[in-house]
Amino acid sequence: MARTLPAATGFLAAVQHGGGRSAEKVFASPEAALASAGSHAALRARPGELTLDAVLLHSGDPDAAHAHGRGHTVLLAGELYNQDELRTLLPASAQPVTDADLLLALVDRYDVHAFRLLNGRFAALVAGQGRVLLATDHAGSVPLYVSAAPGGVLAATEAKALRTAPVGRRITAARRVRRLPGTHQVPAGTVLEIGVATADCTDHRTWAPSPARRIMTEQDATEAVRQALDRAVRARTGPDTPLVVLSGGIDSSSVAALATGHRSGPIDTVSMGTDLADEFPQARVVAEHLGSAHREVTVHTDDLLRRLPHAVWAAESLDPDIIEYLLPLTALYLGLAGPGRRILTGYGADIPLGGMHREDRLPALDTALAHDMATFDGLNEMTPVLSGIAGHWSTHPFWDREVLDLLVSLESGLKRRHGRDKWVLRAAVADLLPHETVTRPKLGVHEGSGTTSSFSRLLTDAGVAAGRVHRAKELVVQHLFDRVVVDGRHPDEVAAAEVVQLVADALEPDAAPARR
Ligand code: ATP
Ligand code: MG
Repeated sequence: MARTLPAATGFLAAVQHGGGRSAEKVFASPEAALASAGSHAALRARPGELTLDAVLLHSGDPDAAHAHGRGHTVLLAGELYNQDELRTLLPASAQPVTDADLLLALVDRYDVHAFRLLNGRFAALVAGQGRVLLATDHAGSVPLYVSAAPGGVLAATEAKALRTAPVGRRITAARRVRRLPGTHQVPAGTVLEIGVATADCTDHRTWAPSPARRIMTEQDATEAVRQALDRAVRARTGPDTPLVVLSGGIDSSSVAALATGHRSGPIDTVSMGTDLADEFPQARVVAEHLGSAHREVTVHTDDLLRRLPHAVWAAESLDPDIIEYLLPLTALYLGLAGPGRRILTGYGADIPLGGMHREDRLPALDTALAHDMATFDGLNEMTPVLSGIAGHWSTHPFWDREVLDLLVSLESGLKRRHGRDKWVLRAAVADLLPHETVTRPKLGVHEGSGTTSSFSRLLTDAGVAAGRVHRAKELVVQHLFDRVVVDGRHPDEVAAAEVVQLVADALEPDAAPARR
């Protein structure tokens, strides 16, 4: 069962031929290089003729996040959710204890193909036999970045950690990072195999969303969804009381209800709202029904918007829509004081179920869904850094590999049915939640918190014409990215309001003098 926090939630690593230089020397300032909070442990290993220097971002037991043997060293940030299954592949006499040990044993047996077996939320590095393997989980939910030149490979779970790296070679299989020449993001569900001497890279795809659709009866589909989701929630519910970020929408309410089923006592839930909008009444209905210890956190809109640099700093995403979804959650996580918590969220259900498209026509729904599944990579929607900046660990049962495979593959008539969006999910949990929750229409976190409207208002107040607001948001996010990722500035030092004015003046030059 998952622990309160994974052993490590991030890392920086340098793999070199021969003696190498310590990670402290390779990375200008490891302490400042990662936005995620936690303790730092330096590590040196010599798999074969290579030298690995790393800094692990850990929660008290860094040794559980690395493993060594048979010429390989493994670093693991994050956790696995199908250990029991994986253990059946190994002899009963040699059962690994930690996830890192398990991965090492599987790499020994299957080499790069070990990653095809994993259901998890992780970024991993394996060094040995003159090469480095850099691997993401199926969803790329823990981002991983690399800069590789002949003789040395640098990798980190945040792009900003590589901003001072020497310019690496072009890796055609990976996406370049804006204004960080030679730095690339490892794609979702991929292992990059890089020869350390040459920096030659081969990519191995370990997961892809199914293009096929399954035909199932209503009953079989709802039972399958219930079972898969229940398993995913159980695998993510640690030994301590879990915390569910709860809107009272069907996605987070399902997770909260299933998590309650796995505990003898009440779970914790928390809802976020602003002075402009909240979903407090709807969340309260669910909290009362489940008997959770429930809290409400209100963030003033000005404070919410002041967190824009923090959201970009954590997510390292350039997509303004994604930043709008993540901003209220960033503010919520930063408002959760105290020791690091394991946080479960309903985030991501809408992508395989097509929930946000409010679309009645099945062909259009399937088109939208196929598009969303083909384009999620690199958006970093599920990055653990978002809650990591406040010392927490978030995890997303709807993007469990088995849940996602099932939801994506259901024929769209099971997703939109009887006039409801996300029908199969609603039917799967109908016995666990109040009727009004089960039938409640979707409301996005950016809508329910008033984030979209207050961000738009900030721009129109600065002089941006209504028709150019989306473009302005894109530019604001780019500017913020340049400051907090490319230039490595701390978000507390970056004023969102100044960036907004800069963008408004650039977009509306004729209006600018009148305002001064
Ligand atoms: P629905 O999609 O049907 O509205 P939902 O509200 O649970 O269900 P989203 O709106 O997609 O899902 O929001 C994504 C996730 O973000 C939620 O599942 C929940 O975990 C979290 N979240 C959203 N809004 C809030 C909020 N106001 N307070 C706390 N957590 C929230
Ligand atoms: Mg919602």
